[in-house]
Amino acid sequence: MYEGPVQNLIDEFGKLPGIGPKSAQRLAFHLLQSEPESVERLRTALKAVVDGITYCEICGTVAAAERCRICSDPRRDPSLVCVVEEPKDIEAIERTREFHGLYHVLGGALDPINGIGPNELRIAGLMRRVGQETDGTEIAEIIIATDPNTTGEATSTYLARLLRPFPDLVVSRLASGLPMGADLEFADELTLGSALSGRRILSGERSRPQGSARVLAPEHIDTPPPPTEPTEPDPAEVEVSEAAIAESEVSWPRTEHRTEASAASRPTTDDVERSSNEHVDNPR
Ligand SMILES: [Zn+2]
Repeated sequence: MYEGPVQNLIDEFGKLPGIGPKSAQRLAFHLLQSEPESVERLRTALKAVVDGITYCEICGTVAAAERCRICSDPRRDPSLVCVVEEPKDIEAIERTREFHGLYHVLGGALDPINGIGPNELRIAGLMRRVGQETDGTEIAEIIIATDPNTTGEATSTYLARLLRPFPDLVVSRLASGLPMGADLEFADELTLGSALSGRRILSGERSRPQGSARVLAPEHIDTPPPPTEPTEPDPAEVEVSEAAIAESEVSWPRTEHRTEASAASRPTTDDVERSSNEHVDNPR
């Protein structure tokens, strides 16, 4: 325990999410040793948050103006809207660089036990956006990207039912499943189950069979083409192949080198981590 203002500062830092007593202490002493200018900048930033932050009038994320940077970007596709729980979810999806539509922030998820019902979320705002044109374009697809937990799933089911009366609107849910670089045997049954029901068809039928949660029936599994019948080899070809075998026996180090190269080209867990770090390090 320290005395006076220093302990107060440690106590306040300790209330923040993800900050334990030791981190709180480290942050407080870091500030004590910092340049007065950097402490002043922190004070100004905190004051700006206390004085009131602006929320985007369209999507509801935190913004510096009436409209956020994404909603005011003419290159974004207004026919696609991704529904998320919190503004931080937008940043996570933006890091993938896969989505070029707009967002809608609900401000949480349905949680009746803690008193969060539809009126506590920005659901009415979403319903207003559906059917309303943005720059002459109607929303064609709503992608529900709420968290893959009980409250997130309940919110997703609720929204899907609410949006069903719009026949021209596609409502989709973010697939959830296995993390890249992971081992199948270590996945829990909930994750593996949702990965199975949210599977992608790689070839064959364009549309999924009725009841997409069903496990693939054997007739839907792609069978490899039957091996071609071995034909009688041409004597000349036999000679060539024997020579090739002899050569490959002589030059065995080269063969081994090739094997190493192919093993190295296979992505490893490290590669996946590195590539995901690159995304984090290079925001657009
Ligand atoms: Zn916005």
